[in-house]
Formats: sequence, structure tokens, C-alpha cells
Amino acid sequence: VMLITMGVFWLLSILISVWLSRLTMRPILRSWQRQTEFVGNAAHELRTPLTIIQNKLEFLLTKPNDRIIDQAENIAIANSESQRLQKLTHDLLALDRSDSNSLQTNFEATQVAGFLQRTIEPYTEIAASQGKQLQLLPVTDFRAVLDQDLIHQLMNILIDNAMKYSPNGSTITVSAKVVGRKWQLTVADQGLGIDPQERQRIFDRFYRVDTSRSRQTGGNGLGLSIAHWIVDLHHGTIAVKDNQPRGSQFVTTLPLNPPTGMSGHHGKK
Ligand code: ADP
Repeated sequence: VMLITMGVFWLLSILISVWLSRLTMRPILRSWQRQTEFVGNAAHELRTPLTIIQNKLEFLLTKPNDRIIDQAENIAIANSESQRLQKLTHDLLALDRSDSNSLQTNFEATQVAGFLQRTIEPYTEIAASQGKQLQLLPVTDFRAVLDQDLIHQLMNILIDNAMKYSPNGSTITVSAKVVGRKWQLTVADQGLGIDPQERQRIFDRFYRVDTSRSRQTGGNGLGLSIAHWIVDLHHGTIAVKDNQPRGSQFVTTLPLNPPTGMSGHHGKK
């Protein structure tokens, strides 16, 4: 009987330790998998613009006697691809900071109405130059604790997307209001809209609803994952809804007084 009991204990302890090691290994494996996938995607995204720039430069080298004006189109393409590279490296660095938790945040009490007005101003000109209208709906003033640089970056991403994915002549509206102990920032457009089944995935790194369309518009699929990270740092949420009669609404809900001093809970997107 003693032997059998010892045997059962021995078996049980082996089973428990195997189960425990699987439990601890799983998140490590998953994050390693995520990391290699990220590096693979990043390399892929870097390769395309680099190849185009290289091809254009090699072609220009075969035309040493041409004037710049003769090759303006090729030079413009190389230039816009190098801008794409710059944006991509900038976004990759932001995500690296989010992974390594190394960002110094600077939360401060902010008069939201004035802050939104200052932030939006430069974008109204850009929108106008694209034949679109960017409007800030009247905001009753209130104070919220936020990191101004990060919320500026968040608005940049949302407004930039609203402009990229909506037609000329349409209007993009930004609004903000207090809801209980939180405040809501909404960016609404009259563009293509987003299918309900895509609404979770668009926050994933490198995810694009329509790759070819997004490539034309200069997207790299990182904007919304950075937006998600910024919202996380503020202990808030971000969601997409339909806009009426068409287009999408990105609704960000943030606490008026987020717990500061420690970074957000990192839903790692
Ligand atoms: P991208 O750089 O491709 O715009 P994002 O991460 O910012 O990457 O967005 C992911 C995808 O979500 C986009 O490729 C696009 O398909 C979709 N999307 C984002 N914002 C909008 C919007 N305002 N209207 C329609 N589709 C959008």
C-alpha cells in the first residue's frame, strides 16, 4: 500500500510540474512568437520602399546627362518612398518604447477645449488643401489629466486616418464631452467606414483592411496600434462605431483623473 501511495504521489507531482511549466512557458512562447512576427513584418515593410528607392537611383545612374527636370517623376517617387521609410521607422521606435515600457510620461491637468483647439489648428489647413473640412464641435470647457504629447499623437493618428479614408468634399468632426468621471474624444468621418468583423483587428500591428488601398494612401498599419497603446497608458478605451449617414467614428474614452506615475495595463497590440 505504501509503495502504491508513493507511486501515485510521484506521478501526481510529475503531472503538476509539467502542467506548471506549460503555464509559465506559454506566455513566454507567445511573446517570443509575437516578437519574431513583428520583426518579420517590419523587415517586409522596410524592404518595399528601400527596393523602390534603390531601383530609382540605379536607373538615374544610367542617365548621367539628364537634367533633374527630365527625371523629376522618378526623383519624386524616390522621395515619397523615403518619407514612407521615415514614418515607418518613427512608428517602429514608438512601438519599441511601448514594448520596453521605457517612455517617460508627463501627465498634467489640462483645459481640454483650448488644448483641442491648438492641436487641431494645423490640421484644418492640411484638410483644406485636400478639399476636406475639419471641424471642432464646441466643447464645454473641463479639465482632464493627460499627457499632452501623447494625446496630440493620438489625435494626429485618428485625424490622419479620417482624412486618408474619406473622399474630397467631406467633413471630419472632432468633439469632446464629459461622461460621468470620464471624458470622450470622438473623431468622425464620412468615409469608407469599417466592417464590423474588422473592428477588432484594425488595432493589431500591421493590420490593414485593404492592403493595396492602404499602400496607396501611405499607410503602414501601425497607426492604430500606437493609438491603442496611448489610450492604454491613460487607462482608457478606444472603439469604432458607424457614423451617420456613413463613415466611421473613433470614440476614445479616458478617465478625467487617470492613475499616473505607473504606465497603463498594456493590452499589447
Ligand atoms: P494605416 O497606416 O494603414 O492607416 P492604421 O493602423 O492607422 O494603419 O489603420 C489600420 C487600418 O484600419 C487601415 O489600413 C484602414 O484599412 C482602417 N482604417 C483606419 N482608420 C480608418 C477610417 N477612418 N476609415 C476607414 N478605415 C480606416
